Amino acid sequence: MKRTVAFSRDAVNVFFHILTACNLRCRHCYINPEQHGRNRLPSEVIGTWLSAFSEKAESANVIFLGGEPTLHPELPTVVRKARSLGYQSVTIDTNGYLFHDILDRVTPNEVDFFSFSLDGATRKTNDGIRGEGVYDVCTSGIRRARQRGFNVSLIYTVSAANIHELERMAPLLEDLGIDRFFIQVIGIRGKSAASPDGVLQVSRETWLSVVPAVAERVAERGITVTYPKVFLAPDDPFECAGLCAENYFIFPNGRVYRCPICEDFPYHSLVFENDRLTPMPRLNEADFFQLRIPEGCVMNRLVQPDNLAYDADGRPLYQVACCMLKEEIRKG
Ligand code: SF4
Ligand code: SF4
Repeated sequence: MKRTVAFSRDAVNVFFHILTACNLRCRHCYINPEQHGRNRLPSEVIGTWLSAFSEKAESANVIFLGGEPTLHPELPTVVRKARSLGYQSVTIDTNGYLFHDILDRVTPNEVDFFSFSLDGATRKTNDGIRGEGVYDVCTSGIRRARQRGFNVSLIYTVSAANIHELERMAPLLEDLGIDRFFIQVIGIRGKSAASPDGVLQVSRETWLSVVPAVAERVAERGITVTYPKVFLAPDDPFECAGLCAENYFIFPNGRVYRCPICEDFPYHSLVFENDRLTPMPRLNEADFFQLRIPEGCVMNRLVQPDNLAYDADGRPLYQVACCMLKEEIRKG
């Protein structure tokens, strides 16, 4: 069954970058220490910041991110803090290195998902993007997590360097015992913007001809697949998640964004000041969310105009969706 995941104010998603340090140097990494900070947040501070959303904790999901969040030695403590605050789900995103024996220090009752990143069905492609030896470390980490009884999801960031292997992921996902498969699209951000080896972003035609079909085939194997809609069909309504959903992207320097595309700029609408979640003065991302343009997403128009195309009269040929709008396919 395929459905567009509607935006909702009933659920809160807290994407919590607890540090920005990482052992890898992936080609498309979006972490930007100039904008996001270089510090590692102490567990007490993480707990206090998590409490800022605890009013809605029963409907809140927290995703711990980095950098590489397992580099944080107190990750098990903050997982338990999220649980004690009543968060409905806890996910740890990881590059697969699983530092500090994290699998021994948390349980499947405490962590709903370990979410691994793999960007190729083969060593050659994945390691060309994520670094030498990463494929083997990541796949063995996935198998160990499965053996310990954890639910495991996998994130594949599609780019011109790996879209040719997306199809080959289906049998690998089944073999690895993956429960959920998240296909992401590379944005012209971070290192991908300045890639010395050419454009990593795929065209609209390539995306539409490959991704939905592969997603269907993966779902046929009983794996739930989620991928960004990216381009709206003519009848699809445009909605900005900044106005009609509750997503918070927290960075260790205290910045809190509502829109991931804004994260490379000081446009955050909120900030933790003395551990209190405080609105930023205008102008900020929230002012952009109000703007209506025929191209759809304002931030895509500003930051990624190459995603757009126009007819001879200057009218956009299609609207670009909010980057948070997802399609989900479940079997049955
Ligand atoms: S694992 Fe994640 S944080 Fe680390 S370099 Fe790769 S993309 Fe960046
Ligand atoms: S990606 Fe565009 S539509 Fe989505 S929250 Fe950001 S500005 Fe709004």
